Amino acid sequence: MFYLSEFTNFKGLIATDSGAFQQYMYNKNEFNINPDEIEKFQEDIGSDFSVILDVPVQLTDNYENAKIKVLTTIERAKSNIKNRSNEKCHWFGPIHGGIFPDLLNLSIQEMKKLDFSVFAIGGLVKAFLEYRFDLTLQILLTVKKDIIPNRPIHMFGLGLPQFFSLAVACGCDIMDSAAYILFAKENRYFTLSTGTRRLDELEEFPCYCPICSSYTPKEIKNCNEEMRSKLIAKHNLFLSLSEMKTIRQAIREGNLWELVQTRIRNHPNLVKAMELIRKNRTFFEIFEKVFKTHGCLYTSPLDLYRPSFYRYEIKLIKNYREPKEVKYLIILPELDVKELNSPTIKYWLEQIDNNILIKRELINIIFVSSFYGIIPLDLNNIYPLGQFESIDINDLNDTLYQSVLQKAEIFFQYHLKFYKKCALLIPLKYFNQYNEELEFPINHPIHGIISLLKSKFNLKVSIFNKIEDLLHFFKSDT
Ligand SMILES: [Zn+2]
Repeated sequence: MFYLSEFTNFKGLIATDSGAFQQYMYNKNEFNINPDEIEKFQEDIGSDFSVILDVPVQLTDNYENAKIKVLTTIERAKSNIKNRSNEKCHWFGPIHGGIFPDLLNLSIQEMKKLDFSVFAIGGLVKAFLEYRFDLTLQILLTVKKDIIPNRPIHMFGLGLPQFFSLAVACGCDIMDSAAYILFAKENRYFTLSTGTRRLDELEEFPCYCPICSSYTPKEIKNCNEEMRSKLIAKHNLFLSLSEMKTIRQAIREGNLWELVQTRIRNHPNLVKAMELIRKNRTFFEIFEKVFKTHGCLYTSPLDLYRPSFYRYEIKLIKNYREPKEVKYLIILPELDVKELNSPTIKYWLEQIDNNILIKRELINIIFVSSFYGIIPLDLNNIYPLGQFESIDINDLNDTLYQSVLQKAEIFFQYHLKFYKKCALLIPLKYFNQYNEELEFPINHPIHGIISLLKSKFNLKVSIFNKIEDLLHFFKSDT
């Protein structure tokens, strides 16, 4: 018997598979492998991570077949634990269930009682090939929520690199894939910007890996079939590895959600799969860091699905308290940049702070913000409220505009009772960060706040375009 590390001359960790998928995919009944033999073989050749001979449930299986497969895999997992003889070998415990939630749950409940170093989700290759990313993520999230939290989750055959970051964001820790070679055999070339391309479509390679730097698409097209698929496969592999590094670096920097937002633009089904983030936001919020070392960039309404927004909504309702003496509420529009970076906001705040009409401690100030809805001034420097850049709202009917109104309504329900009077400032013009004077946008969500306050809340509300007039309004009945 040989040792894999010597045979491959590779010093890192080596994982092996049992051949269950190959048996299903390529050889069917002619490919007879026995669990005890193949599992012992993996131990003997010095595999660091081995997989038991599971029976993968396929999406096409009916319920009865799927159940037999799940139960067989659980039995084999139990036998594997009894038969282990090499302590250095760490075992993957495959979890199956496919489209049947109760079978998936059965598999999770039984497998998590057993001693496996890694839990692995299988039977999803067909879903990947059909770009059913929502189904894949739903299964991943179901497992992630219930499995032992300190064990990594592996995904078998996690095909396309543009899906990696979303899967990682949903709890996938490790993955394997043969997609780089399977796609290469069909002359399909991975990109991260525009999805998978056919070699015929490419005049130039949008990549600087050793393959793409040495060959033109035309030269590769002229190679024989074996050479052609080998070269494309190498590029596909370089790209997959480069994406893994990008993801790891994004995790270190706290930028994973930004990366996910970029990658999902590759395919509408990836965008659709993001809906699961929104549906499971209470789960994601638990694991969202309280602070990061950099600000956030919000470039699309899809960013609203990020757990940090949900956390802010909850905290604003549960934890925010008005300063004790306040009687007057000033609602200001968020402009192109935050607070003191905006010459106009800086000027407004100076006017309020230095006014002689109303004591400053009687006044509270909130901003109407395109992504967060309402941001009280005293929270403006707390992460992430003061550390983000975002797109502007373009349309009164768009998701962002409506989301601001919804968030504002919730805020007012809880907080408006503390005020005697409320005033909005809607300037005619303002200065942007470059000191250019601009018309105040007619689609700023602060306009929607006016009708919201008038229709749903019983409070004296007035609108002004100068701070001075606004303060006189407060002063008028003091
Ligand atoms: Zn390349």
